[in-house]
Amino acid sequence: MTRASIAPITIGGVTINAGETKRIELPMPLLYTNTQMSIPVHVQRGKRPGPTLFVSAAIHGDELNGIEIVSRLLKSKSIKTLRGTLIVVPMVNVYGVLNQSRYLPDRRDLNRSFPGSRKGSLAGRIAHLFLNEIVTHCDYGIDLHTGAIHRSNLPQIRANLDDPETLAAAKAFGMPVLLNAEERDNSLRQAASERGVKVILYEAGEALRYDEFSIRAGVKGIINVMREIGMLNKRKGSGKQVRLFIARQSGWVRASESGFVNHVAQLGDHVGKGDVLATISDPFGTLLDTIVSYNEGVVIGKQNIPLTQEGEAMYHIAYFSKPNFVAEHVELLQDKLDLEENPNPITD
Ligand SMILES: [Zn+2]
Repeated sequence: MTRASIAPITIGGVTINAGETKRIELPMPLLYTNTQMSIPVHVQRGKRPGPTLFVSAAIHGDELNGIEIVSRLLKSKSIKTLRGTLIVVPMVNVYGVLNQSRYLPDRRDLNRSFPGSRKGSLAGRIAHLFLNEIVTHCDYGIDLHTGAIHRSNLPQIRANLDDPETLAAAKAFGMPVLLNAEERDNSLRQAASERGVKVILYEAGEALRYDEFSIRAGVKGIINVMREIGMLNKRKGSGKQVRLFIARQSGWVRASESGFVNHVAQLGDHVGKGDVLATISDPFGTLLDTIVSYNEGVVIGKQNIPLTQEGEAMYHIAYFSKPNFVAEHVELLQDKLDLEENPNPITD
């Protein structure tokens, strides 16, 4: 079902007609300094009807990769003429971006505060605002995330892959690694899905950093999804597709000791059961323990800082039926994106 229509839409009291592009400031609670606050929104509508897609970043305020992804997307020639409506929100958690923090000033996680309410906590109010002003207009959404501080994620798509339309969008993104992820309670994905909006989540890179590979793959992926859902023309002869691998399970390997870490396994590596992922030593270099993989899989997330506390999550491993192929295809994708001559705006 597509809410394809050329009827005007209204966001934050501003009406946008078919064929128009507008920048809107969505007002939200002031800072205690009496400083006005708003969520910046870019709305671009084609003249022809088509689906409505939102692309959101920095729902976790320290996850910055997505901001660069959407700014390159907006510069891309590929989206100059589109069908339907593209709504881009570079920062949902503006307070978090200011504070360089995942959370809101009330220390709540916005992505655990949906659907929220007008009279609720600060996080609940922002969730309610975003849900009602942006998400409910849409057929699809792409929400951009990164790993936490000192933690990197291999570019991957997380979505409810049991839903056929969500699966089609997730596959179209073109990442080799797809994770069938259950919707967390009070997450944006859950609230959107209850309203019939198909949301996929792109996880790539590390908090507070730009990661070029993740950014390029992200821009390409969004454009690929727009082609798939009919907002952009499909490319002729785009026969060569990235092979996709769906993981239905993943797990964290945790530190058995506190100490200093030498990482052996890297993102995208194919590891076997019992393979060494890292070693932990005391400050004099005495080996305390060796961290091994419990099962065969692919490294999709890892700690970057060489310091660890007992119990801390060090490696995120996804389990596939053919993990060696996944690792191969991750490498192929990396090469492909590295080879592109133009490092900045992707214009295909
Ligand atoms: Zn996040």
